[in-house]
Amino acid sequence: MNIAGYDYTLKSAPSQEDGGMDDLGRLHLGKQIIIVDTDTHTQQQETIVVHEIFEALNFHYELKLPHNQISILETGWYQVLKSLGMDTSLLTKELRDGV
Ligand SMILES: [Zn+2]
Repeated sequence: MNIAGYDYTLKSAPSQEDGGMDDLGRLHLGKQIIIVDTDTHTQQQETIVVHEIFEALNFHYELKLPHNQISILETGWYQVLKSLGMDTSLLTKELRDGV
């Protein structure tokens, strides 16, 4: 997916530890990779991707948002997508397609 003009790749990897959202999902800004712990519910994987998209926007546009505010945007935005009946499985399609 393209975020702020940068092509990002989704990759699957086990989480580092049992912790918060930034342990289940990680962002490698230099390599432009979003890493998702796929040993999680599909809805978790989708919100991880949303979270890391906001983290990438935060970096590229220098918004200086703290992680907890990004978590609020993540949950709020994901709920809106769901309420509109949007196909949120597209967020993690690349993981299943094995690009
Ligand atoms: Zn975060």
